[in-house]
Amino acid sequence: MTADPERIAVVPGDGIGNEVVPAAREVLEAVGPDFEFVEADAGDEVKAETGEALPDETRELAANADATLFGAAGETAADVILPLRSAVDSFANVRPVRAYPGTDALHPDTDLVFVRENTEGVYAGHEDEIAPGVTTLTRVVTESASEEIARYGFEYAAERGERVTIAHKANVMRTTDGLFLETAESVADEFDVEYDTALMDALAMHLVMRPEEYDVVVCPNLAGDVLSDLAAGLVGGLGLLPSANVGDERALFEPVHGTAPDIAGEGVANPSATMLSAAMLLEYLGYDDAGERVRSAVKATLESGPHTPDLGGDATTRDVTDAVLTKL
Ligand code: ATP
Ligand code: MG
Repeated sequence: MTADPERIAVVPGDGIGNEVVPAAREVLEAVGPDFEFVEADAGDEVKAETGEALPDETRELAANADATLFGAAGETAADVILPLRSAVDSFANVRPVRAYPGTDALHPDTDLVFVRENTEGVYAGHEDEIAPGVTTLTRVVTESASEEIARYGFEYAAERGERVTIAHKANVMRTTDGLFLETAESVADEFDVEYDTALMDALAMHLVMRPEEYDVVVCPNLAGDVLSDLAAGLVGGLGLLPSANVGDERALFEPVHGTAPDIAGEGVANPSATMLSAAMLLEYLGYDDAGERVRSAVKATLESGPHTPDLGGDATTRDVTDAVLTKL
């Protein structure tokens, strides 16, 4: 008896999602594992047609697929991506930030990864208006979520022989970030991995000045959101940055960029971020060699061209996809 092929949900969404996701799917098809791909809708267009930004079928599909490849959603982004992330029970948002040759990076040696807590912090807190002109927000930090994210970060670093930095602001948020920091440091004790801790504001400055000193940065939710965007600016462009929302049983992979309405429909979107997200998908499912092949082919294409307009070239998404397929 042979096992059923793994099922990959493919959700292009809106805007350039419809250009970059099919390109990344071609790359997945070319590297071989015998996946079953199932496409589904989400976003502004399907909301206009049906009244629902995230149809039940799409949610169910993601909740049952082995992995999901998502593009982007426009105005409805929060109604789509937040429930999709919870459909895959993701606790970690993983964002590698790497400078590739042939691109305009501020710091060409940048190669780090943010491991961001994805379920709590201020984003899970309740906001209130307690009186006219007076608003509050409750910040939620639990030992279990802190432990889970720290463990993921340390395992990630251990597998790669890398160093961990734990970001926090425990000198001010003594109770919540105090718990986060204390929990992460006790996880650190279980690993033979070098680590340090960093106040998140000072870390922002160091990341701009010396990003090459960092490997794996474990962060609470809001800090990870801000710091990873900051680091994205160091490597020259949204078109290059992949991400993963990882759970124990399934995961969702998406480019960091959005729908890029200014270029949508022109066929010139850079597919690299989504292809690199597909490489992370392959690795998540255990196809490390295939993932590395995809990453190398994207890297080689970034080095040699062709380049889409965001990287100063005049190539189309199709041209870049063909170049990557040839290198594979
Ligand atoms: P959204 O609200 O969906 O995030 P946005 O207007 O913020 O839309 P983004 O997708 O976040 O647009 O992109 C910001 C800028 O970066 C735009 O000018 C866009 O053209 C450019 N950009 C983003 N992704 C890519 C890509 N893959 N290829 C080329 N340019 C891109
Ligand atoms: Mg945007």
